[in-house]
Amino acid sequence: MRILTGQGRDTGAEMPENPILIARNIGPAELLDYGRKLKGVVLEEGSVGSHAAIVARSLAIPLIIHAGRITSEALNGDPILIDGDMGIVHLRPEETIAAAFRDKIAMQAEAQKRYAGLRDLPAESLCGARIQLYMNAGLMADLPSMQSSGAEGVGLFRTELQFLTRTHFPRRSELATLYSHVLDSALGKPVMFRTLDIGSDKVLPYMKPNDEPNPAMGWRAIRVGLDKRGVLKMQLQALIRAAADRPLYVMFPFVTEMPEFEEAHRVLMESIAREQRLGHPMPSDIRVGAMIETPSMAYAPKKFFEMCDFISIGGNDLKQFFFAADRENERVRRRYDTLSASYLTLLDLIRQRCDEARVPVSFCGEDAGRPIEAVTFAALGFRRLSMRPASIGPVKHLIRRVNLAELRKVIDEACEQGVTNLRRPITEWIARQ
Ligand code: PEP
Ligand code: MG
Repeated sequence: MRILTGQGRDTGAEMPENPILIARNIGPAELLDYGRKLKGVVLEEGSVGSHAAIVARSLAIPLIIHAGRITSEALNGDPILIDGDMGIVHLRPEETIAAAFRDKIAMQAEAQKRYAGLRDLPAESLCGARIQLYMNAGLMADLPSMQSSGAEGVGLFRTELQFLTRTHFPRRSELATLYSHVLDSALGKPVMFRTLDIGSDKVLPYMKPNDEPNPAMGWRAIRVGLDKRGVLKMQLQALIRAAADRPLYVMFPFVTEMPEFEEAHRVLMESIAREQRLGHPMPSDIRVGAMIETPSMAYAPKKFFEMCDFISIGGNDLKQFFFAADRENERVRRRYDTLSASYLTLLDLIRQRCDEARVPVSFCGEDAGRPIEAVTFAALGFRRLSMRPASIGPVKHLIRRVNLAELRKVIDEACEQGVTNLRRPITEWIARQ
């Protein structure tokens, strides 16, 4: 690890070519430290729903979890092949396995070429529904993917990743410069900046750790922002300054009841007034959004939906709270399917409430990047999905092949028949298209 982080230069040890990191577990901040130097990560513990996994996806680093005994069996310098899609690890592989991997890589390269051919085409279904595909981002290194993937904007910019990569709290001027670069690279496409979402498994290395029994349900996201106003205001000021004469989209994470959004909204409006008084150029337009990540918000007063300029569903958290199943605990996480009738009914309710209030809604959790889930959300009526850039091609490919109105009928009929998990009828129907 010391070699990878550049602290081990004088140990005489050499950084291997295409290094794969093997560890018991890893946090998002640590993974960001290694960055793209790594070609893969194999963990004995870990979870697909963790922020380390999200960071790995955004860095396009294959990550394998639950590789039993790997830390004791692998020796430094051992050859290892990993398949991130299938969750497979081959330690000291034989030549036949290596040849199969080479074939798979060649086939994937072919598929990538096909997806690249769709880049400038709309994600339009056979029934004429147009779905906007946005990308999730959080690092400057993500932004070139905006052009290559054909994303129509950034539907979720996770600002905390910039805080996690530092050893100290960033200064307002540093953040303003960074956000301004993000907007420059977006070339006029919208970027939805989510204010700092720390807490849960996103622990800032330079902040006093909070000893909480259940951090995912603890002091995190907007709860921290409203209690530590100085940090929230500093970030909002940096965003306003960065936008200067350009539109600014700000969204607040983990809103659990309406007054939290009202309060955060008020802090933003005060920050705008302050910046104006100080003579800073104003954003040309300001849109304020909320992330729905707890089931409580599906039942929020109508006024909440009317107050929002846009809404984004954070499905990673929403699903863990809906099923009371920790997103970081593989054992319980996998028990509950995104395509369960009850969860889709909740999503449909949120979508309906947004439509009634005429507020645009998007889905930005990891599920939006899975083609079957993505077309299901589109069939429920979602018209904007935000995902990691590499998923845009596969999702668009499937959307263009299906009739969403027909898929909606399949979903409704299965629900009427009392089917509890819709994965089977949905995948069977897709296979027939
Ligand atoms: C989510 O919860 O779905 C989300 C997008 O936020 P994060 O994964 O960063 O918690
Ligand atoms: Mg979340």
